[in-house]
Amino acid sequence: MSREREVVEACPTELFIGGKWQAAEGGKTLAVEDPATGTTICDVADASPADGLAALDAAVAAQAEWAATPPRDRGEILRRTYELMTERADELALLMTLEMGKPVAESKGEIAYAAEFFRWFAEEAVRIEGGYQIAPNGKGRFLVMRQPVGPCLLITPWNFPAAMGARKIGPAVAAGCTMVIKPAGQTPLSMLKLAELMTEAGLPAGVLNVITTHDAGGVMEPLIRDGRARKLSFTGSTQIGRKLIEQAAGQVLRTSMELGGNAPLLVFADADLDKAVDGAMLAKMRNGGEACTAANRIYVQAPVMDEFATRLTQRMDALKVGRGTEDGVDVGPLIDATQRDKVKDLVDDAVAQGARALIGGSVAEGNGYFYQPTVLADVPYSARLQKEEIFGPVAPLTPFETEDEAVRMANDTEYGLVSYLFTNDLTRALRVSEKLETGMIGLNQGIVSNPAAPFGGVKQSGLGREGGTVGIDEYLEIKYVAVNLD
Ligand code: NAP
Repeated sequence: MSREREVVEACPTELFIGGKWQAAEGGKTLAVEDPATGTTICDVADASPADGLAALDAAVAAQAEWAATPPRDRGEILRRTYELMTERADELALLMTLEMGKPVAESKGEIAYAAEFFRWFAEEAVRIEGGYQIAPNGKGRFLVMRQPVGPCLLITPWNFPAAMGARKIGPAVAAGCTMVIKPAGQTPLSMLKLAELMTEAGLPAGVLNVITTHDAGGVMEPLIRDGRARKLSFTGSTQIGRKLIEQAAGQVLRTSMELGGNAPLLVFADADLDKAVDGAMLAKMRNGGEACTAANRIYVQAPVMDEFATRLTQRMDALKVGRGTEDGVDVGPLIDATQRDKVKDLVDDAVAQGARALIGGSVAEGNGYFYQPTVLADVPYSARLQKEEIFGPVAPLTPFETEDEAVRMANDTEYGLVSYLFTNDLTRALRVSEKLETGMIGLNQGIVSNPAAPFGGVKQSGLGREGGTVGIDEYLEIKYVAVNLD
């Protein structure tokens, strides 16, 4: 049997409810596809709304005991999860590449990133602090305690099949919350495998329940409206996020929303161009461009535009496109035909409006959903891709003259997740950073993601932060006790 087959066959494919693997109602299944070939890898359980409710029942039943479990024990389970993920990184990475498409080296990077959330929150589990305060009139005392929010509903996208879940499960476990997680229909395997691994790490039955389904709305809406879950944490598109906020309003659920992005990357004439090109490659091509943090619009100050465009084009030209399991591949396929066609439409629109493809600009030949690494020059401000997430290997370049113009273009979007800024002028760096309307800024670097830092957006890129010392707050309620000392 090939290694690929072995890894797939070793992955659970059923629903994980109350610590047991079980088939979906009526034995229904859902096919998982390899986006590099368009062929089915395996079938997983296709949950019904009744299966979803059974998962919530299990999370609710486990909540009180889990909240009472010593923080050190919760932390040790997270730490063990980190260790198991690290030990089995090769297997987990291959599984991820098969369902999602990214090169194995990138999948390994994601496994390390995901595992790091478990290590980070293992350390946070034992640092949930409270407060003791003398009332201003000197008479009473205020006790402040922080307690788990309660059962959580977690929904994650396909582009980072392990890390987006880890960023929620880590703090929820650390805080003492139970949960139902629904991974994306296209990439359920990494999450099912993670549930198996966390069980091996000692996670008690019912704390983490995993449901996979083709009917995300039909299964999740009843859970959101049920009233027993106390929190909804979603990572995905702004369009679905808005809908979920409305549904959550019925029960006034706490919500965390990690939504879409439209990151600007600004290169000033005083920048170190080596750093700027390295940063642009990372910000653009991490995950093949299928990242909420992907540089969607690259604005370069006119005097250095030609030099920057030439260097970026050389780097993009050197990338090898192919199936993510093959040696030396830098760029895998897009997730599906819809996404590939969307990238094609956005590039065609820009070219029709006067942009020039310095390299690429078309769909790659063959099976699977490949698009060529592309650099577009002279992209007009009216092009659709200035406003819409590309989610593909396309770098659109637009020149600017002044700092004010660059900031105005950067902020002219409903999104506010991340921006990137390249300059060697410290005063400009701070001045522009203060003006950029995003939750995160990469200053002279093309990556901001780090489990020890607060990740999240402003405007329509979301609500709340994941990671850092504040990440656990999303899963804790504050309770204050007014103490009468008279
Ligand atoms: P999506 O279509 O919004 O789907 C995200 C998740 O929501 C999937 O699990 C999906 O299930 C589920 N879903 C879809 N419709 C739903 C509904 N009516 N009710 C409940 N759940 C529903 O997004 P995507 O295409 O998977 O992911 C790409 C988007 O995620 C991009 O916009 C990207 O910027 C964003 N993203 C943001 C961050 C961040 O941290 N800010 C990180 C990564 C990605 P199915 O798969 O079954 O449809």
